[in-house]
Amino acid sequence: MGKQDCLFCRIAKKDIQSKIVFEDSQVLAFEDVNPQAPVHILIIPKEHIDKVSDLTPEHAEIVGRLVLAAKDIAAKKGVKESGYRIVMNCNKDAGQAVFHLHLHLLGGRKFSWPPG
Ligand code: AMP
Ligand code: ZN
Repeated sequence: MGKQDCLFCRIAKKDIQSKIVFEDSQVLAFEDVNPQAPVHILIIPKEHIDKVSDLTPEHAEIVGRLVLAAKDIAAKKGVKESGYRIVMNCNKDAGQAVFHLHLHLLGGRKFSWPPG
């Protein structure tokens, strides 16, 4: 299972170490190695999906699970009341660097809007 050359597939298989904060049969969440906020967690499906624009109706459940995991982790990390942002970057204008679907959970500081 997983793409051999994909960083996040390798993290999901535990071939590459990460600081895991949540795991179930379909979802893994771990600390971003280059945090942009006091709380910066990446939430991924264990199944490889390149990016948002490749999603199909069959992915509705897993996408929902990513968001629900983010909500629970935000509460666990203490940013439920202060607030947080969830972000999915798709392709180059958004700056997607890792082509394995992931949701960023960012919190612990104030974010600007519109985003940079
Ligand atoms: P994106 O620009 O949305 O593709 O974000 C990719 C994110 O993955 C960036 O925030 C990186 O800091 C993060 N990242 C890259 N390599 C690792 C790694 N080995 N462990 C944890 N996070 C990583
Ligand atoms: Zn992958």
